[in-house]
Amino acid sequence: MDLHAETQSILSFLGALASDQGEGLRVSSPIDGARIGCVLPDDAASAARKAEQAEPAFRAWRSVPPPRRGELVRLFGEVVRAQKEPLGRLVSIETGKILQEGLGEVQEVIDICDFALGLSRQLHGLTIASERPGHRMMETWHPLGPVAVITAFNFPIAVWAWNAALALVCGDSVLWKPSERTPLTALAIQALFERACSGHGEAPAHLNQLVLGGVEPARALLDAPQIRLVSATGSTRMGQAVAAQAARRFQRTILELGGNNAAIVAPSADLDLAQRAILFAAVGTAGQRCTTLRRLIVHRDLFAPLLERLRGLFQRVTVGNPLASDTLVGPLIGASAYDSMQQALARARTDAHWIAGGERVLESEHPQAFYVRPALLAMRAQTDIVLEETFAPILYAMPYDTLEEAIALHNATRYGLSSAIFTNDLREAELFLSASGSDCGIANVNIGTSGAEIGGAFGGEKDTGGGRESGSDAWKAYMRRATNTINHSSQLPLAQGIRFDLA
Ligand code: NAD
Repeated sequence: MDLHAETQSILSFLGALASDQGEGLRVSSPIDGARIGCVLPDDAASAARKAEQAEPAFRAWRSVPPPRRGELVRLFGEVVRAQKEPLGRLVSIETGKILQEGLGEVQEVIDICDFALGLSRQLHGLTIASERPGHRMMETWHPLGPVAVITAFNFPIAVWAWNAALALVCGDSVLWKPSERTPLTALAIQALFERACSGHGEAPAHLNQLVLGGVEPARALLDAPQIRLVSATGSTRMGQAVAAQAARRFQRTILELGGNNAAIVAPSADLDLAQRAILFAAVGTAGQRCTTLRRLIVHRDLFAPLLERLRGLFQRVTVGNPLASDTLVGPLIGASAYDSMQQALARARTDAHWIAGGERVLESEHPQAFYVRPALLAMRAQTDIVLEETFAPILYAMPYDTLEEAIALHNATRYGLSSAIFTNDLREAELFLSASGSDCGIANVNIGTSGAEIGGAFGGEKDTGGGRESGSDAWKAYMRRATNTINHSSQLPLAQGIRFDLA
């Protein structure tokens, strides 16, 4: 079956019927570059209309008790669980990530639904000791309002789910603007979500709406007065524009932006373990994860032997059709990603001792698709290009002599998403995790930079935007906090002992 036919058949099986409307936004698969669907995009006016519809949906939903809201997320998680295979395949076809990772992405949706279900009974605030006699203080968490979720192409459903599962149990309605490159998986998810809503009984219309297209409808959403929180995932350039626009209305933001993640390999590292972790983090998802490992900082004594090992692995890794079971690296998303990769390699060439890989492969078989062999570069120094995020499988390696020097190299980028150290030395591991160690939102020991679990708060510092979503207490961003003081005495003592009595 060709990819267009397979895509349409999966979409129709999942209940997303109008997925090839013949005109509008053309969607192609990075596997072979061929068209797999076409959807009608929203314009500014229709995005604004959807934002208006999100308000009554929010008002109805906020009064549904949180555990009942959790029940909807549970139902949705079960619908997704039952459709894991076709959905995972669709993710692979639309993004080019290998099937294992497509299925992993669907699993992430299921996991966050489970997490949010439990959370729906735990949206609790504090009770606080009052300084006044006969008084009690407490915090109450209330639903916030309609939430706009803008997502990137590389995680076409998981990032929406991290946000939406929490927003829904918190009592918010959701407007989802997926990447213009991956609207079809969004249509499939929307169909499954509506199926869950119809089985629930209390979900209002327009609880989760899709806004399709590119920048225009996204900006219209940010202009809508109904939106109280914008959770935007994508490049730092996009985040800067979103932050500036949201600031005008004091909309809350969760910004999940670019990364230029590094790992330090210390002298005591278990190299067999490290090389496996490095390989997955650097070349998995064809280097198109925000948490992809892009810089490797290796103790000078290990530099040559570790790089030789990695060079062999990079050469051996199977690049090809992401739906084939032995493929580990699928295609890049498109021509511009390939061009950026080649430009980065050209800039790095003069500062590299050597470069292995980086070339285009399978070009004659798939002239409209962009498959590359992952690139490994032994660098003389951490030059400007190394400090930039190039969204492709390029791993730059640099030697170091002292751990302090390694940490300084590590923290030298403008990004602060994910980081790792490979060491069996407790002092080194603890220093890396300490206030003087990694400056990232995620810091790991003896595992790679990518592949986070949903239970932890996910996000980064500096130009990564500072947002946190998914696990831990990230739910608090989707609610508003009210501080309540209750006087159950017959006196009226003022705080700070202030006296204010009529003579
Ligand atoms: P992108 O910035 O091109 O697009 C992301 C989304 O933002 C899309 O939906 C796009 O339509 C929208 N957008 C673009 N400009 C906008 C604007 N001015 N106003 C409102 N919306 C706008 O990113 P991409 O190429 O899809 O994804 C790759 C980037 O995303 C990489 O930089 C990667 O590191 C980052 N990313 C970050 C995370 C994270 O959690 N930190 C996760 C995934 C991807």
